[in-house]
Amino acid sequence: MKKFTNARIYRQHDHASEILVDKGVITQIGTNLPEADEEIDLGGRLVVPPYVDAHLHLDYVYTARNEGATNTSGTLFEGIARWHDVKKTQTLEDARERALKGIEEEVSKGVQFIRTHIDVDDPKLTGLKAMLEIREQLRDNVTIQIVAFPQEGMYAYKGGDEMIEEALKMGADCVGGIPHFEWAREIGEKSVRRTVELAEKYGKLIDVHCDETDDVMSRFVELLNALVMIEGIGARTTASHTCSFGSVDNAYAYRMMGLFQKSGMNFTANPTENAYLQGRQDSYPKRRGLTRVKEMWENGINVCFGQDSINDPWYPVGNGNMMNILDNGIHLAQIMSFDELDRCLDLITYNGAKTLNVEDRYGIEVGKPANFLVLNANTPFEAVRQRADVLASIRNGEYLFKRPAPSYEIEIDLFRKTR
Ligand SMILES: [Zn+2]
Repeated sequence: MKKFTNARIYRQHDHASEILVDKGVITQIGTNLPEADEEIDLGGRLVVPPYVDAHLHLDYVYTARNEGATNTSGTLFEGIARWHDVKKTQTLEDARERALKGIEEEVSKGVQFIRTHIDVDDPKLTGLKAMLEIREQLRDNVTIQIVAFPQEGMYAYKGGDEMIEEALKMGADCVGGIPHFEWAREIGEKSVRRTVELAEKYGKLIDVHCDETDDVMSRFVELLNALVMIEGIGARTTASHTCSFGSVDNAYAYRMMGLFQKSGMNFTANPTENAYLQGRQDSYPKRRGLTRVKEMWENGINVCFGQDSINDPWYPVGNGNMMNILDNGIHLAQIMSFDELDRCLDLITYNGAKTLNVEDRYGIEVGKPANFLVLNANTPFEAVRQRADVLASIRNGEYLFKRPAPSYEIEIDLFRKTR
């Protein structure tokens, strides 16, 4: 038995500061809990559930400098064209090595839950094979969900729909799609319908790259939402990106948000990547590339953040640091009231877990696995303001890592003399 004491527990409102862990599970939360074999004093620091990266591409990581990968226009569409060339040289060993490095980088920054899209527009399914193996190998330490994602289209890539079905049979967790990349609106719609059909047929979750464009006429989110609402699988569905929804007019947006509330569909935004990729054909003012995160959050629609890219043809400087993603996201979405700042860690924790449908084993609650982070801050506000480091990541009651606390309160000679 282990007891973590002197903790400030995120979302815990009754001042309980102790967490008792037995066999990897939280057995009690409170004060003056029974003694344990090992007691760990957390020094009043903030304890939060592990970070969730709800949208990442682990088959693309660290390919930004590969031959033929340079994306000179900085657009999504050139990124796709560049990846088309880069993936031809991908081997199983190379895919495996890069994905492991990407996961390690994320885990070292507090992520324990990752939903990764894997390109299945590949007759050999190289990336998928590597990822399925890694998912099982790392299962105890990091939870990975795999989306069967047709990067070059379900229909624009010949046989893409069949490759998705094959990937689902092999064990992918979610059905993906990219309707705004198909060659006509009708075909994009056909791909959304097929995504929902396949999810129903194989009992899988859905995560569609949806309307990742500045084109306000790209409204596949409307069809996706309607179809999953009819089937009653909104909570099992995610619309990723929905950048164009940030450009639609309010009359449309608010009608749709009413329908999103009803369906319970989840949304994932990727603030750094889309701020970089979108608005490329705008002069000034340039759009931010972000969907209506603030309004969704205010209206009780589940919305969370993802890193999307780590050093790939779409975005070179991703590093798996979800605190950085949150930092960018709250700026771009203008989420900054004190009340919002106290709660915005939800966007990289609880809301992501809801998107991944893992709430039954996520959160700091009795009966759940003892998975949590210790941040170098005493309150949620200070964690966000200081962009606090993760001092420890605990999985099933054991350290994945711990590191010494760097102090923000160094004494600078000049100020000591001036005082
Ligand atoms: Zn993506």
